Formats: sequence, structure tokens, C-alpha cells
Amino acid sequence: MAEVLVYVDHVDGAVRKPTLELLTLARRIGEPVAVALGSGAAATAATLAEHGAVKVLTHEAAEYADYLVVPKVDALQAAHAAVSPAAVLVSSSTEGKEIAARLALRLGSGIITDAVDLEAGDEGPVATQSVFAAAYTTKSRVSKGTPVITVKPNSAAVEPAAAAGTVEELSVSFSAQATGTKVTGRTPRESTGRPELTEAAIVVSGGRGVNGAENFAVIEALADQLGAAVGASRAAVDAGWYPHTSQVGQTGKSVSPQLYIASGISGAIQHRAGMQTSKTIVAVNKDAEAPIFDLVDYGVVGDLFDVVPQLTEEIKTRKG
Ligand SMILES: Cc1cc2nc3c(=O)[nH]c(=O)nc-3n(C[C@H](O)[C@H](O)[C@H](O)COP(=O)(O)OP(=O)(O)OC[C@H]3O[C@@H](n4cnc5c(N)ncnc54)[C@H](O)[C@@H]3O)c2cc1C
Repeated sequence: MAEVLVYVDHVDGAVRKPTLELLTLARRIGEPVAVALGSGAAATAATLAEHGAVKVLTHEAAEYADYLVVPKVDALQAAHAAVSPAAVLVSSSTEGKEIAARLALRLGSGIITDAVDLEAGDEGPVATQSVFAAAYTTKSRVSKGTPVITVKPNSAAVEPAAAAGTVEELSVSFSAQATGTKVTGRTPRESTGRPELTEAAIVVSGGRGVNGAENFAVIEALADQLGAAVGASRAAVDAGWYPHTSQVGQTGKSVSPQLYIASGISGAIQHRAGMQTSKTIVAVNKDAEAPIFDLVDYGVVGDLFDVVPQLTEEIKTRKG
């Protein structure tokens, strides 16, 4: 069976959930071979093996942390040369997409970004994308070179599937460009204790209807009961009520959680572009004619300051 390279996103050996989702998809099209780089790479092997990696190629070097993406592209190219895979899968983070694009260019391959599903096809893997502000769903496959495909977080379930996970040291020689852009400083973001917006299984968002920065506490309280990330519409962000990094939409982040709860958000096309592929959508809006109600699975017409705290309380009660 053909091998499929999966680029591993990890923090000091702790594998991030989108990589485990990639392993689920990789198994549909071949045998997953994981590529883990940098500090803690070898420590990823057990988790990757539990989720179907037949092989784990590792390489630890300071360059991966000290320089921007090129060393990682060099390593992935070396893995590609060693394995001749049927496809290369990378998670659709900002960094993941840059790595994937550079790799595809080097390989002379076609690339598909932001896939939301992946299946085996007679002439190579077929990727599903949600395009034009999610107005269309397309299926496509790469027709030149090794398909390089980036997949949005939450596009597949994490499914344990024990495999050998044989660890092999990858031989990498860095290119002249690898050390071209050095990381000169790092400031950790203040942690909210909530999951990362683009990876969260549940997102609770607030819009102009929240009517003030201090009122976002209502949204945060619901998010915390659900273990969710907090998102915001551009109107709320532009008003300075919530950080820009939390903006969902065409010019913000694109999310695809299992559950998206929008409160005080009208559902403008630019907002929908960033959340329409969510599995279940719930909206709370006091205007029954708000366009958000056209795409919801469950809608509540009401004042969010009445509805959301009740919902939060009910969840708290049921959790006991
Ligand atoms: C090029 C471009 C890019 C853009 N990119 C983005 C983007 O990435 N993300 C994004 O979100 N927008 C984006 N926008 C802006 C977008 O067009 C909308 O203006 C924005 O999404 C509106 O935000 P909103 O729904 O919070 O506000 P509004 O459209 O003003 O809607 C507020 C809603 O809250 C409801 N409401 C008010 N009070 C309450 C209450 N107490 N309880 C319940 N409901 C209440 C109202 O009925 C209304 O439906 C972009 C626009 C452009 C032109």
C-alpha cells in the first residue's frame, strides 16, 4: 500500500489534535508515515503509533526553532525523497500552509489547501473544499506531481488505530536558505486557558449585539462551561471589544468546529465564510429576520442577555 507523509505539529513532543485528524484521513489513502521535527520529535512516536503511523521519521536540530519555516521544508523534502509517498498531508495552520506551499513548489507538485475532507480516488486522493464563502463545495485532485494537501482542523475525527510506529532518524542537510530568517525573540501569548480558536471542537462567538467589551463575560461564561474557544465578529473586534486574533470570517480565522454558537451576530456573508462548515450551528438573535437563521441547525429568537446566561446555567446544572 502506498505511503502517505503526515507532517507532525507538536509542542515538545506533545502531538496536537489536528495531526491526529490527519492520520485518520491518511489511513483512507495509504499507510501513514509521520514526520516529526525539532525538540521532542522522538517523544511523539508513541502517540503517533497509537493513531496509525506505521513509521515515524524524526530529526531533532536547533534550526527548527531558531529559524522560520525553511528548515522544516528541507526536512519534508528529504522525507519525500526517502519515501516517495502517494501524498503529503499538512494541517491548515498559517505555518502549515506556508510549509506546504514551499514544498509543492520545490517538488513541482500541485497543492490543495484548506481541504475539509479527503478520500481515495482511482487517480490519487480527492479533496473536498468549501469555497466562495462556503457557497460551493468542490472536489478536486492534484494532477501533477505528489499531491500536497493541507487540511483544516476538525475535518475528521481522531480515531485510535494501533500501528508499528517504527522510529527512524531522518537524514536532513539544510539548504543555504534554511538560515535566512532567524527568530530573534519569542513572547508567549497570555493564556486564557481556552482551546485555540481554529482547533476547538466548540466555538462560542459574540457580535455587535454583545454591545461592549465588558459584556463579553456572558459569552466567555458559556464558552467556559462548554470547554469552548471564544470567537467574535468583525464588528465586535473593530469596536475594540475583543482581540483581533479572535475574529471569525473572511478576513479573520476560519473555524470548522463540531458546534458553533453565534450570539448577537447577524450572519453577514463575510462572517459566514469563516464558520459555515461548522457541523452544528446555533444562533441567538433578537431579530427573527437575521440572515444567520438561514444557516442554523437551531435558532433562538431572543435577547442574548436573557438566553445565554440561562443556557450557561442549564449546562452547569446538567454537568452537576
Ligand atoms: C472585505 C470585508 C471583509 C470582512 N470580513 C469579516 C470577517 O472576517 N468577519 C466578520 O464577522 N465580518 C467581516 N466583515 C464585516 C461584515 O460584513 C459584517 O459587517 C459583520 O460581520 C457584522 O458583524 P455583526 O454580525 O456582529 O454585527 P451586525 O451585522 O450589526 O449584527 C448584530 C446582530 O446582533 C443582533 N442583536 C443586537 N442586540 C442583540 C441582543 N441583545 N440579543 C440578541 N441579538 C442581538 C442584531 O439583531 C443583529 O442581527 C467584512 C466586511 C468586508 C467588507
